[in-house]
Amino acid sequence: MMKKIPVIIIGGGPVGLSMALALARQNVKSILIERNPTIMHHPRARGVSTRSMELFRQWGNGKELLTYELPKEARRFIWMESLQGKEITRVEKNYTGMESFSPSYSSYVSQDRVEQSLVHSLEKYSQADIQFSKELVDFTQNDHGVTVRILDRKTQQEEAIFAHYLIAADGANSNIRKQLNIEMHGNGDMGRYCNVYCEMDISTWTQHRLAINLLFANPALTGRFLASVDGKNRWLVGMRFFGDQTKEDFTDDYCLSEIHRITGLPELTINILSKNFWTMGAQMPNQYRKGSIFLVGDAAHRMPPTGGLGMNTGIQDAHNLAWKLAMVLNYGTSTTLLDTYYDERAPVAKHNMEWSCDNTKRLSEISMAIKKGNMDLLKTKLQEQHHHLNYAGLDLGFIYHSKAIISENDQMLSVTTSKYVPTTLPGSRVPHMELIKDGVKISILDLFEKEFVLLLGRNGQAWQIAAEKINEKNLSWPLKIYRVAADGDLHDDHNKWHEIYEVDYDGVVLVRPDGHVAWRSKNMVSAPLTTLQEVFKMFSFE
Ligand SMILES: Cc1cc2nc3c(=O)[nH]c(=O)nc-3n(C[C@H](O)[C@H](O)[C@H](O)COP(=O)(O)OP(=O)(O)OC[C@H]3O[C@@H](n4cnc5c(N)ncnc54)[C@H](O)[C@@H]3O)c2cc1C
Repeated sequence: MMKKIPVIIIGGGPVGLSMALALARQNVKSILIERNPTIMHHPRARGVSTRSMELFRQWGNGKELLTYELPKEARRFIWMESLQGKEITRVEKNYTGMESFSPSYSSYVSQDRVEQSLVHSLEKYSQADIQFSKELVDFTQNDHGVTVRILDRKTQQEEAIFAHYLIAADGANSNIRKQLNIEMHGNGDMGRYCNVYCEMDISTWTQHRLAINLLFANPALTGRFLASVDGKNRWLVGMRFFGDQTKEDFTDDYCLSEIHRITGLPELTINILSKNFWTMGAQMPNQYRKGSIFLVGDAAHRMPPTGGLGMNTGIQDAHNLAWKLAMVLNYGTSTTLLDTYYDERAPVAKHNMEWSCDNTKRLSEISMAIKKGNMDLLKTKLQEQHHHLNYAGLDLGFIYHSKAIISENDQMLSVTTSKYVPTTLPGSRVPHMELIKDGVKISILDLFEKEFVLLLGRNGQAWQIAAEKINEKNLSWPLKIYRVAADGDLHDDHNKWHEIYEVDYDGVVLVRPDGHVAWRSKNMVSAPLTTLQEVFKMFSFE
């Protein structure tokens, strides 16, 4: 008999692994198929955003990850004439005030460590079956789901599996997307690169000026950079292809001679660990879903790594889709809820992609100024680089609009990309604040994962009575109710909840399982039961 599973995930990169973990935590079973024998050891991403770190904190892999983060003093870019030459400028990441916005902070940890920590967390869940060295060969879908053919690369045996849903987490060159004839729009080739991962001791020139990226204001070193992987001796050396260069030109000998040239150290001992070839692109499709198949991560959007958002956007795609699949599979919610995945996530991906392209443009303007020897222009362009590292508004301030939100206006994002403004405008991620629950200090974000949550002010008893009545009788999905009050479930020692949550003492905020505001009422209404019945009906997707 054919094996059956609610969800099959193709691809064990950071996004596929996040999908499996987020689903397991929602008690949804999945099989993940990854063609490589292990996670990818070549580090690509290093920037993990505040929002992704919040998710990792909730998912249980955040602590492990932080043991590998780059030293805090490295959270900057440094431009220099050469490794031994004059330093031109430093661009620092600004963390001022961020601790009041989140229990986590954006961090620099290499992607292999992210993947490893996700695998470790997944080991605790029987709901997720992670299978390496297996490959999707092909698939067919009908009205009930998808049948996939999987090849075991060790035994060369094939197996068919039926899944209600297939998640394409198979990366930027997604074959699933191609087979579905989902077209990508945008620029698919903004430059080709070889990143060489190596061990070398250049600490004499770097230990007093740690940085995530060392860049060169030097025409001879255009298209070359040094990126620290561990704050010590592990480096990624970025090399752009020039002219008609091809992959074959990047032999070990060529790479070693280039690294000797870039570092200005012809005798330096270099141990090449791996090479990764990648093409910068900025592309998206017009849909993330075909029937029972969903695109997530790089399969759904390609963006330049300038800004460090590709993986982060993908992890948050997984988080958005997981609770919706759980609502459908565990509580029988209508599948129309799943359409809101594209409606909510595509605008975020588009914005992140455009912002990453702006960063690419700013970097190439620096290269042009260097080439022209225009030092005034270079100074101006270097000053603009603070945008590249400081994007709290984009990180935490995105606001969803879809049929799974009762929107009050069409505001998409926090006031600016660089500045996060906490709000409970429906669609936004709820603001973080500390509260006391059962005598223990928590972040309010800890309340949101598996249920809808109704947060009430201290004079919100009438909402509570109405909500409990509906919850007892005819709610098909899980709801938790908390009243923020001295005699309530959550204690707010500083009496700030009303101000931060933008409601009066008799107001209410309904929060979805992903921690985004579904609806709010700033005050009590004349008929709370009728109002809540209408609101809850919307979220039942009948
Ligand atoms: C130089 C560089 C720097 C970057 N820096 C950042 C950063 O700082 N922050 C950030 O957020 N992002 C960054 N990114 C982007 C980030 O690396 C990607 O967005 C991320 O890897 C996407 O994850 P994914 O899981 O969607 O895809 P991938 O990581 O590409 O994983 C896809 C997986 O699917 C598997 N697969 C494919 N087809 C099949 C099949 N048929 N059967 C089974 N398995 C299959 C592949 O083997 C692969 O393991 C960077 C990228 C580059 C190149």
